[in-house]
Amino acid sequence: MTAELQHQSVLFGKLPREIRDMVYLAMWDVSGTQQHVFEHEDGSGDVTHFPCILAAGKTDSRNDEFETMWHKQQARRPRSLVEDPVWARRMSSTWNEHWKCEEAMLARMGEGRKSETLFLPSLLTCRRMYDEALPTLYASTTLVLTSLPLAHHLLVAAPSPNTRLWRAARLSLTVPYEQLHRHRTNDYAGRPSTAPHRWAELCGALSNLVRFAALRAVALRLDVADTDRFWWEVRERWVLSPVRGRLARCLVLQLPELTADVDTMRPYQFIPPTPCSSIGELSGGEDDGPAVATAATTTTATENWNRYTVPTPYKPLWISAAATSPQRGPAEETVRDTEYPSASTNPSPETPPSTGSGSGSGSGSGSDSPGVPPIPFMRLERYQRRRWSREPVGDGVQARLEFFNPREHKVLGRERRREKIRGLFRGLLMM
Ligand SMILES: [Zn+2]
Repeated sequence: MTAELQHQSVLFGKLPREIRDMVYLAMWDVSGTQQHVFEHEDGSGDVTHFPCILAAGKTDSRNDEFETMWHKQQARRPRSLVEDPVWARRMSSTWNEHWKCEEAMLARMGEGRKSETLFLPSLLTCRRMYDEALPTLYASTTLVLTSLPLAHHLLVAAPSPNTRLWRAARLSLTVPYEQLHRHRTNDYAGRPSTAPHRWAELCGALSNLVRFAALRAVALRLDVADTDRFWWEVRERWVLSPVRGRLARCLVLQLPELTADVDTMRPYQFIPPTPCSSIGELSGGEDDGPAVATAATTTTATENWNRYTVPTPYKPLWISAAATSPQRGPAEETVRDTEYPSASTNPSPETPPSTGSGSGSGSGSGSDSPGVPPIPFMRLERYQRRRWSREPVGDGVQARLEFFNPREHKVLGRERRREKIRGLFRGLLMM
């Protein structure tokens, strides 16, 4: 369907396209350039949006705020639980570090107020405005997703044509342990596996959007969903092996911080805090990478790391103000893609490396060994994982330590301590 040109209108008849794009960008700016995308609370399955109020780079403030509250209670009346329904809900928020955004959304819904953005009114004005404004909307707006099932639905199971217009995405995902490590699409007998591979499939979809569509900036905060699992049990290299190529190079990755004890115990399981010493090692064996320095034997490891990760021309929208200008739309980025090997020279999408292989998820891959270069993400940050968890029943919040430490575990009961010891051995057996 073609749109009416509407030359009689002031907007389309008098203003040039560049000015109209500036008008559209101003509309998106006042509506909020970071938008949570989530399923409506009414259970209808409808997807809606809400402005994100968490500034990029801000850490999860729950730890500090709750710790203050915890110490106040311990000083007054020592107990293992803090019983507080508000904090219990915050600690189990499915919006993760965006819990304040969730509270703001719920407050607005509670007041019965509707969305105060210009997205829908402007896109419903007429067909021509829809066609013109939609690319600028996706080019200037960062979509925030905190649900793996929804992200999988939008990007893998039922992507819309507009998915190819996505320019920037922030994902904060809490993924079940088994699903994080499950990359194979065939079972041990070679039959197609019926178990969900949402995490690996999502990585593949994001990779394809970076390679073949407009996506240029991805931030990913990852955590493990199981309440009886710890991050030090996660095989980071294995889990992140589907994140490769251009997706890795435009990815700002946030992982829970590692303790020194864990780092010493199984250093090859985790992505090291410092890079390996050679750029040649880092850049070898990848498919479609942008040009990076190929020899820098005299520079330090840190310099190499920076030189490797920084030179990409793509900057996340929340870093580069210039990225919001209409000149940096998807069309320009598509042209820039031609600098790299075209899809025809390497048509296969980036798929999980172990697809169809015989190694189990727990047994690890051949690349998961000392000396193998780390995955070259644009940036890797470590965040302090929550040290508190909601009890299965009631409104209690209890201390939850990240790894076994006899001194700190003295504060916990006998049963809880046994669970931690079991977890420790489970992690050791995974070596
Ligand atoms: Zn938010």
